[in-house]
Order: sequence, then C-alpha cells, then structure tokens
Amino acid sequence: MDRNYIYHESTTSICPKCLKVIPTKIVIKDEKVFLHKFCKEHGLQEELFEENVEYHLSKREFDKPGTPCKTQTITEKGCPFDCGLCPQHDQHTCIALIEVTNKCNLGCPTCYANSGKGEPLAVAKISEMLDFLVDSEGGESEILQISGGEPTVHPEIIEIIKTAREKKIKYIMLNTNGIRIAEDEEFVKELSQFKGKFEVYLQFDGFDKSTYTHLRGRDLLETKLKAIENLRKYEIPITLVTTLDKGYNDDQIGKIIEFGTETKGIRGINFQPVTYFGRLREINTKNRLTLSGVIKKIEEQAPDLFQKGDIIPLPCNVERVAVTYMVKSDKKKFVPITRKIKVKSYLPLIDNTFAFDADRILKEKSNEVFSGIGGCNCTNFIKDVKNIIPASFLLKSQEEKIKYIDENTFRISVTSFIDVYNFDMKSMQKECVHIITPELKKIPFSAYNMFHRK
Ligand code: SF4
Ligand code: SF4
Repeated sequence: MDRNYIYHESTTSICPKCLKVIPTKIVIKDEKVFLHKFCKEHGLQEELFEENVEYHLSKREFDKPGTPCKTQTITEKGCPFDCGLCPQHDQHTCIALIEVTNKCNLGCPTCYANSGKGEPLAVAKISEMLDFLVDSEGGESEILQISGGEPTVHPEIIEIIKTAREKKIKYIMLNTNGIRIAEDEEFVKELSQFKGKFEVYLQFDGFDKSTYTHLRGRDLLETKLKAIENLRKYEIPITLVTTLDKGYNDDQIGKIIEFGTETKGIRGINFQPVTYFGRLREINTKNRLTLSGVIKKIEEQAPDLFQKGDIIPLPCNVERVAVTYMVKSDKKKFVPITRKIKVKSYLPLIDNTFAFDADRILKEKSNEVFSGIGGCNCTNFIKDVKNIIPASFLLKSQEEKIKYIDENTFRISVTSFIDVYNFDMKSMQKECVHIITPELKKIPFSAYNMFHRK
C-alpha cells in the first residue's frame, strides 16, 4: 500500500467478512479520515470514517470522563461480544430503548430492526425492564425511547407509557413512523394526557416522495404531514428523526431544518446517516455520509442559522454524536447557544446526557458554581446562563417552564451509529444509546444490531 496518508491513531475494528476483531489504523488522507483495517484472512480494507479532518480532530476538545453505572456481564470474550453492559463499557445510558413489539405496520426496505412479525411484550415484563433500567442507573434514568417495531401497534401502548411515567425516568419519547398518529385522532388525544416531559420521536425523511419510496417502500409524505398536524392539534411536542441516505435526501437537510424551526410544536431534529445493518442491502460504504459530512451539509444548506463551530461534539459521546441547542433571540429567531456562551469552558458542568433540562441547569449548576464545586468562573457562568434563559424562568410554574422550553428552544443533533465497516473500539465503548432486553441486559444500540439481535 502507498504511504500517502498520515498515521493518526490506532484502534481496533471488525472485519465485515469474518466478523473478527482486527487491528486498525486511523489515517488522514485526501482531507478525509479513513480506517485501514488489517485482517489476516481477508487482507487490508479501507473504510471512510469522517469526511472532515478538522471536525474529527476537534472531538478531543469536548471529551470528558464517562458516567459510571451498574454492569451486568463480565469480561470474557472481549468487546464487542461481552454485552452488556460489561465492565469495559465507558458510558452510562443516556438513551434507553425498549422494543415493546417487533410488529410493524410498515415494512421499510431499510429497517435496522428487520421488523415485521412477533409477539408484543407484556406490560408486566416491560415494567420489570424499566425497574432494571432505573436501578442500573442508580435510581433515576435519563431518556427512555419506547420503540419497536412500531410501538403504536402494541395493543397496550397507552398502558406502557403510563407504566413508564410511574418510574423515575426524566423524559419519555415514543418512536414512531407516524401512521397510527396520522390515522387515529382518538389515539393522539389519549397520548395528550402524557404532555410534559413526553414527546413523539417521528420518523420524517424529507419532502421528496421518491425518498419515502426508497427508504420506506411507499410514499408517506402526506401521512407524515397529517401526523404532525394531529400532534400539533393536541400540543404534543415532536422531534423529527431523519434517516439520511447519500444521493436520496441529503439535499433536503436545509428544507427540513427550515420546516422544523418554523413549525410550532416541533422541538428538534435528529439526523442519522444510514448505517449498514438490518435490512439495508445496497452497501456503499466508500461514499457514505459521516457525522462530519452531515454537519458540513447542515452548515451549507442552512447558512442563515449555522456557521462553523455551532454544531459541536456531544461530550458524552464525542465520536458519534454532534449537537447544537438553539434559543429564540429577542427578534424571535433561533440562534445557536454557541454564539452566546463558550460551551467548552463549562464542560465540567455538562452532564453526560442528551436532555436539555434548563430548570436543573439553572438550579443545581448555579448552586454548584456558587459553592465552588463547578470549578469555573461563577460571574461569567451566571452571565452566560442569563444570556440563554431569562432569570424570570425560575419563577415560572412547572407547566409554564415546560411550555417556555418547548416554545423557545430547538435542538439539532446528528447521530452516526456504528456498523461493521466504520466500527472503532472507542466509539463502541462510549456509545450511550442502549437497548434494554427482556433478559435484563443493556446492550449498546450498534452492538445489538451488529451482533446480538436475534
Ligand atoms: S460494546 Fe460495551 S458492553 Fe458490549 S462488549 Fe463492548 S464494552 Fe462491553
Ligand atoms: S424502520 Fe421502523 S417503521 Fe420501518 S419497518 Fe422498521 S420498525 Fe417499521
């Protein structure tokens, strides 16, 4: 092989052919970052890792120690075959997923879960899994995503959400393709009883009908728009989750952001570049979309909102998640908080979580700073926090606070999950989205889909 690259770091990866763990170099070449993977049996393989070297190198500046949590397995075969969590895993559960059914009312050609048939989980079993989750996180869990298959086809979905609400879980999301939400208004009305720390995580792939045909097997644009209309009618907050496939909908990022930020009720967007597991068979890893590639497209397609540096690595998982929080300015336009505060200065104060909990930040963190625990300059901190959220926020009732946050903040995140092509050990061991299994294990989402899904 030509030495036309800079050897940046070493890691381990997976050979996509024999699934063995293999030594790997992370190299910089042609202004991109690649993995050079060495399999004794299948030789040298080159895979695209990041499309933007500068962004990749900046990840370290946002890195911080993981949050400990209980483990369920022992180190035996080595990562990624000891899930989990095993003692080697370096991050707690920021987002827990419970797949309440494997059934689905769609049949996406790209389904990572290979959903279709299967028996739904009993509510009692789900309750046991939730208790396990909360206990494993030391008595309180961050975000729960009720997922599937399609969770809204579970005959007891309302009971499941009620059960989850009774547990010590900070925030609950219902992951859905939106079909039932669009077609069954009575169901949406029932969901509205959960408002407040509850939202719908709605699969939304853009405005091009052919994108839906490619990703979902049929045109669903009108269904998605109807689902949004119904959720808005009952004031249920929405996060759009967009699967991005190069050449199919990566040109619609700007339009999706414009739609999201201008539609009341939509609180955020999560972009997910396609990952090669599950049913997706058209494999194009050499020209894939990466985390930094998506960020670049966001900056290019929404230049009025974003500039370089606004979307930053999420401290709990710098390798695979990037985020920006936006707040409404005096002129009622969303502005990324990176324009108002130097996020890097406050890394010790940022918890390892996705959740934006302004109330807690103001209350707990201000106390920490005043008592000297936070270790940063308190005057600046208070001034900066006031730049984001008005001081009057603390005087609002809980209901008003939720409404204020819903109407005045917007979150854009990019999550790049791991497959056997772009696998690197650090990304794997820091992954903070975990599947809670009926056997009471916590398995990192990517590892589950690569190796452990039955
Ligand atoms: S992915 Fe995490 S839990 Fe699974 S084997 Fe590796 S370190 Fe352990
Ligand atoms: S991706 Fe979601 S909506 Fe599509 S088949 Fe799978 S579970 Fe159903």
